[in-house]
Amino acid sequence: MFHSRTVLLTASAILVGFSAHAGGVSGGGGNVLFPVDPQQPASRLEVRQVIVSAHRDVVQYLQEKQEQFRAGNLDPAQRVQFSQLFEQPLNVVEISRNKVLEIESERPCIDANGMPVDADIHADDQEKVCVSSFSISKKVEKGELSAQSAALLIHEFSELAGFDEDGAVQLQSMVLADFRRR
Ligand SMILES: [Zn+2]
Repeated sequence: MFHSRTVLLTASAILVGFSAHAGGVSGGGGNVLFPVDPQQPASRLEVRQVIVSAHRDVVQYLQEKQEQFRAGNLDPAQRVQFSQLFEQPLNVVEISRNKVLEIESERPCIDANGMPVDADIHADDQEKVCVSSFSISKKVEKGELSAQSAALLIHEFSELAGFDEDGAVQLQSMVLADFRRR
């Protein structure tokens, strides 16, 4: 009894926080969350390979979450986050599948405000999303590369689907924890 009450309260707390931020304007950029300084940084080429494979994982992950959401099989906290995502005007699964990554190895990506970021939806080509192997290799430990890249990609795809910055970061944080458990 006590347990289920706790879960419900947590879910509604997330719902309130989430709804308050949905629908605002987004800068379109994104950064890895709370990275640990790498002792031995991965090369940009290694990071590129991790990003490419994280993209495949993310397409499959979002597809699975959408199926679980529709079947009513997500736990309460995830249900709240993903219902927001899957009810956006654009389908995030389609977006993740169709977007090509522009992996920037020489510099950061640049957001709509001209600020350097680890990833951004405003690539030179509209069909693409910029992700910087340059920035990520400097910030993220090898063991975290895969989870951080996947969570960052989902941040960007969620913005393309209609999320604002706060919504995208909140989702990214949950996905990061989820990928760390894999
Ligand atoms: Zn963003």
